[in-house]
Amino acid sequence: MLNNIFAKLRKQMTITYSLIFCLITTILVFATFSFIWWSILSIEKENFHAKVIHEGEEWISSKELPVNDTELNSGNTLAYFVEPDGKTVIVDQLGTLPVSRALIKCRKKWPTVSEQSKLIHFTDETGTKNRYLASVAIIKDNNQTIGTLYMFKSTRVYYATAENTLKFLSVLLALLFGFGNLISYYLSGKSIKPISDMYDKQLQFTADASHEMRTPLTVLKLSTESIATDEESKLSDFSKETLSMMTKEINRLTALTENLMTLARSDTNNLQINFTTFDFSSVMNKTIQQMQILANEKNIHLTSHIPEKLMLVGEQSSMKRLIILLVDNAIKYSPTSSKIDIDLAKKNKNIVLKISDEGEGISDDDKTKIFDRFYRVDKVRNRSNGGLGLGLSLAKAIVNEHNGKITVTDNPKGKGSVFTVILPAK
Ligand code: ADP
Repeated sequence: MLNNIFAKLRKQMTITYSLIFCLITTILVFATFSFIWWSILSIEKENFHAKVIHEGEEWISSKELPVNDTELNSGNTLAYFVEPDGKTVIVDQLGTLPVSRALIKCRKKWPTVSEQSKLIHFTDETGTKNRYLASVAIIKDNNQTIGTLYMFKSTRVYYATAENTLKFLSVLLALLFGFGNLISYYLSGKSIKPISDMYDKQLQFTADASHEMRTPLTVLKLSTESIATDEESKLSDFSKETLSMMTKEINRLTALTENLMTLARSDTNNLQINFTTFDFSSVMNKTIQQMQILANEKNIHLTSHIPEKLMLVGEQSSMKRLIILLVDNAIKYSPTSSKIDIDLAKKNKNIVLKISDEGEGISDDDKTKIFDRFYRVDKVRNRSNGGLGLGLSLAKAIVNEHNGKITVTDNPKGKGSVFTVILPAK
């Protein structure tokens, strides 16, 4: 059980560490990518604007066209030169491709003189999405404005490179996440180790200490019993009463050490349970018969419905202990002259044990806590009842060892509780 807790804690820590690692690396990688992309674009915008000015000057000095044929035919670089009125075309180098026609249609998107350069997006008649870097400059000859030169440069290559870089980064991130997961798993294991070692030692100590206490307690128990049954001893009434109180406390202490030892051993997976196939119905009948005496003391009506020969794979003594713990609780927490019903049935591949009482019931909040160690709903009253708060945690440990489940619900009759144990049948 304890191993489960530490495994769960390690899993939670691994998930948390991994998530933090993934978040930080993703942010870092994408922030770096965006910064590089933004820097390249800014430089390209500046360079392209300088090229437009340069091509304009070349045209004035030698009438050299801004775009060469190869660039024009491929649609990579295009140019459009108009007089200051914006209508009279001086040079039209937009070409004859679909992109050229689409470009002239979206003149509103072209950069203004103050913007100098900008990225424009548009779709041509073939449905192709185009992204161009567009730049504009006023071309002057001896302080006389000749016209406005627009030039467009396809950014296809940039976007293709960016796309490939993104794919590469995604693969790199996936690898980093895997690596981060392994590191997180290793680190969380390392952080838990000292605590789990300390817990192991503490559990071992509890198991050893309670084991060592068994012999002196047995001697004490036998001694008090022999004094009580010694007919020759002349004990005063006060001594008899003290002796009976001592026997009661020794019994309580014996039960506590037994429970502590079983729980500590179950935590360290050291229960050494011997699984056999046995007649669970018969064990139940015999145990309930023994419990009948306790029920009679409180005038409680104990009924049971147990089908014959329900076989179970498990440890007989642990199962007997489980029944005693649950029925004992039902008796302890029920008023006199009430009813307790014990029901055993086979459902599909499971054996279902239900113990219903008409006691005070358990609040929803307490239902989640009563299986914890040393948890008692009403501490003052339970102490007088002999309760130590270990019974249900022990019952849960036994059920877990048998790969079963234990739950508590309200009694549908309106008063009391129902403890249900589901165990895999043979
Ligand atoms: P305890 O030794 O105190 O009985 P348990 O672990 O067996 O310890 O039970 C924990 C607490 O759960 C008890 O103190 C009691 O308040 C509550 N409880 C257990 N069984 C019943 C029941 N059948 N009806 C009402 N309360 C119960």
